This record gives sequence, structure tokens and C-alpha cells, in this order.
Amino acid sequence: MKKKQLIYLDYSATTPIAEPVIKAMQPFFSIDFGNPSSIHQFGQKAESALENARDQISAHLGCNSRELIFTSGGTESDNLALRGVALARRKKHGTNHILISPVEHHAVSSTAQQLAELFGFELEYLEVDKTGIVSPEMLRSKIRSDTALVSIIYANNEIGSINPIPELAKICHEYSVPFHSDAVQATAYLPLKVSELNLDLLSIGAHKFYGPKGIGALFIKQGIEIFPMQTGGGHEWGLRSGTPNVPYIVGMGEAIKFVESHQSEWITHLQKLRDKLIHYVLENIPDSQLTGHPTHRLPNHASFVFEGVDSQKLLMLLDVEGFACSSGSACKTGNPLPSDVLLAMGFSPELALSSLRVTLGKDTTEEQIDQFLVSLEKVIKKIRSPKS
Ligand SMILES: *Cc1c(COP(=O)(O)O)cnc(C)c1O
Repeated sequence: MKKKQLIYLDYSATTPIAEPVIKAMQPFFSIDFGNPSSIHQFGQKAESALENARDQISAHLGCNSRELIFTSGGTESDNLALRGVALARRKKHGTNHILISPVEHHAVSSTAQQLAELFGFELEYLEVDKTGIVSPEMLRSKIRSDTALVSIIYANNEIGSINPIPELAKICHEYSVPFHSDAVQATAYLPLKVSELNLDLLSIGAHKFYGPKGIGALFIKQGIEIFPMQTGGGHEWGLRSGTPNVPYIVGMGEAIKFVESHQSEWITHLQKLRDKLIHYVLENIPDSQLTGHPTHRLPNHASFVFEGVDSQKLLMLLDVEGFACSSGSACKTGNPLPSDVLLAMGFSPELALSSLRVTLGKDTTEEQIDQFLVSLEKVIKKIRSPKS
């Protein structure tokens, strides 16, 4: 029997590296291997590739290239933003209060929790509505003159909801509080100009937009007070020491170019498939609910809960059918805990353990979605049938 082709519907977890990105990276693994800090021509070549990538990405963000730091990924960018700003602001201004949403990626929430537990910061959570969005009114009710930092995710990885970043930023600036946003999921699909978003710090990670894993960047607006978290030779203006990963940085620059040339076509294509998927599920699968906002959501993102369906079992049976999806958070084995994000939105623990996340990408076709829906309906019926 011919093995069935696997269909990947988990693009929020990671994406394949695009061909032009691989091509752009290649020489920097071998012939152009120089260290950008070296004076000689090997070094100069690497240095110029590094700065070219910095220019490409800062142009996309609409910032000065001096305001962009390369890191090892979205996680490190979030860590540097939170810990670096919180500690610098406390040292210089005595501010000791941190505000985050309860639907942050763990790169933000665990960092904030550590700042509270080990460093004595007062950590407070902004409440979200039932679609997982933070309202400007909520932020206004919690922000204080001694708030060191506010961090709110741009587009949510688990439920796809998009926060009103410019409105939230306006409130932070009324209080002169630095505002950070994790834009790792947003990069492929949403406007990213920092002046329009009005952000002080923004994190990105290349492997969520067809670039390599293990590389990311942090925008830090000029004048924002921040301490380095990795000290050493003083690379990246002293904010992130360590020889830069030149091939991956070149790849991330090329991946941004790839996003720029395809974004509008992806959005049109994926939004149509996403809406078809969501409508079919809600109309044909009993006791199903969409999680996250129905319209203010990523164009490639659909997420659900199904009453009485164990999501681990659902993911395994879908995998047997040939479809790779996820349940939202990246808990793979062992005893799954209900997602903090779904609990914060008001879902019961049982319902939160019945979640499914289906995220589409540039190579997803309508035929794949049609096949997926047939299998999903079948698998859910099977799980719900008393004999299973
Ligand atoms: C994937 C992801 C991260 C982590 O980025 P890495 O580059 O994998 O470290 C952070 N935040 C969000 C929203 C993500 O989706």
C-alpha cells in the first residue's frame, strides 16, 4: 500500500525555510565564513552581509538599523526585552511593577514570573475578554506611574487573536512606560511598522516566517533604557555579546524580503481557506466552538474546542489520517495541563483540554483543507462514539 502524503497544518509551530532563503545563506557557511569583527577582507565581507540584513529588517520595521539587535530567536528577544528593561528601569527609576497579559507566550510569561520570584518585582496580569484580547480600558485601569514595563502579545500563537497595539501603546506613553510586544506570530501577516504600532520594543523570530530556527531580532527604540543579558565582547552595541550567526542572520534578512514580496497574496489565499475551514467546522461538527476572535485573528489561524473530545487523542488520530496539527500550546507528551490561555479566556479545564489548532501556510491548498475536514469529522465522531 502506498504511504499517504502527510499534510502539514501546523505553520504556527514552525515553517519550512523558503528556497531563496536557503540560497542566500549557503555561501556564509563555507566560502564567506569570516568573523564580522575581523579587520581583513573575510571579516569585511561578513560584516557587510550582517549590516545588509540589518538594513533589510529595519527597513521592514521602519526603524533605524541602530535600533535592531540580533538574538538567537523569539525566546531570547522576549527575555532580553523583559529582563533587560525591568532591571534597568528599576535601577534608574525605582519602578517595580510589571504588567503582562495572561495570554502571553511562555517566553514572556515565564520571564515575568522569574522577575517576580527571584528579583522581587510585582507582577500583575491584565484581564482578557472571551476572545483573548486586552482592551485599552483594561490597561488604563492597571497601569501605574511605577510600572517598569508593559508587554502584550501582538498576535496570539494559540488562538490567533490580534491585540489593538497602537491604542494600548498610546496609554503606555501617557505614563512614560516602555511597551513591548511579541510579534513572532505577526511577522508573516500583519503590519510591522514600529512607528505606526507605536512600540518601544518588538520581538521577532525567523522560523515563523520561512527563515531558519535559532535566529531572531529585537527592536529597541532609541533612548529606551535596557541592560544586556548576555555580556562579553560587546557585540550589538554591547547589548548582546557573542559572534553573530552570520548565515542565519542573512537568512532572516532574505526571509523578510520573501514576506514583503508575498504577504498580500498569502493573506488573500489563506483568509479564504481559513474561513471555509471555520464555517464548515462550526456548521457540521456538533458542540464545537471557535476559540479566539472571529475576525481580528491571523489570516492563517483556526482554533477550536470540541466538547467531550480529548485533544491528545484527536491529534494522534489526525496524524494517522495524515494531518499534522497541534492543540495550541507545545505540550507534547505526558500529562497535558489545560492551556493557561484558554483558562484565562474563561474556558473550563475540560473544554480547554479539547482544543485543536489548525494553522495554514503558503503551500496549503483548498484540496488539502477539503480532505482535512472529511478526516476531522470522521475522527471526532469516532472519539465521541461510546465504543471508542
Ligand atoms: C514561536 C514563538 C516564540 C518563540 O520563538 P523561538 O524563535 O522559537 O524562540 C515566542 N513567541 C511566540 C508568540 C511564538 O509563536
